[in-house]
Amino acid sequence: MTSPLRLAVPNKGRLLEPTVGLLRDAGLVFDARERSLVSRCENFPLEILFARTEDIVEFVGDGVADMGITGGNLLEESGRTLEVRAELHYGRCRLDAAVPSDAPAQGISDLEGCRIATSHPATAERFFRGLGMRVEIVPLSGAVEVAPRMGLADAIVDLVSTGSTLLVNGLRSVGTLLSSQAVLVAGPGADGPANEVVTMLQAVVDGREQRYVMMNAPLARLAEIEALLPGLGSPSVVPLARGDMVAVHAVVAADEMWGLLGRLRGAGASGILVLPIELLIR
Ligand code: AMP
Repeated sequence: MTSPLRLAVPNKGRLLEPTVGLLRDAGLVFDARERSLVSRCENFPLEILFARTEDIVEFVGDGVADMGITGGNLLEESGRTLEVRAELHYGRCRLDAAVPSDAPAQGISDLEGCRIATSHPATAERFFRGLGMRVEIVPLSGAVEVAPRMGLADAIVDLVSTGSTLLVNGLRSVGTLLSSQAVLVAGPGADGPANEVVTMLQAVVDGREQRYVMMNAPLARLAEIEALLPGLGSPSVVPLARGDMVAVHAVVAADEMWGLLGRLRGAGASGILVLPIELLIR
């Protein structure tokens, strides 16, 4: 019997919940209550290996797992060339350079010659070397934002999502080194069942960004309504018992939905229903 595919996922931290949510939304049934090291899916030949977010790239690179979910920033920091099979649209953050609010620096180029504290030393080294800048990197494993106050560094390179941690610590961003989100990575040998996992997870990610819209429309204004609905190809038009009306079904980007509703009503649409899409397989 061949061993099942193994997917490494975060066992704690901010990527844990959204990752478990993604797998469950894809219909995978598994036990994550005990935070057991390995959980076997009940309905798919897949083993889920719960591991430290920082270790997942290593695990996939070394073949301990066939695939993994981790932050794009950690893949970049590792320097490994694993294949990114899907971008998962959560865990979004930026790796920003920041200085104390009262420092004169306004942009990245003003950091020439600075001591820069970071938990992403390899990424920072590569970035500044790429710009032909000389900086001194001070590697830290945590509490990077307090380094300037402690006199350890002139600036930091750290992960930022809302910017509130920078603000609380009297820091100001001067530029972005990298934009990141959670990614699904695969090792070199991952094919067959791995492709199925990619399709499953991608279908959830794509479905989350779209809505299924149904409405009634006067037949006479159908062309006007169709022109408002780009969606996935052309909308479905279903005849109704009343011959002068039709039902129109379409897929619409979730973030365009509210802007579109007023225009659809203006074009005569009524009884508009907006439904979530569980899976969208392109
Ligand atoms: P954690 O396990 O909670 O330390 O989070 C690990 C990963 O979450 C990071 O490597 C990033 O990929 C992602 N992340 C998203 N937003 C942030 C943020 N504001 N600070 C740190 N990590 C973040």
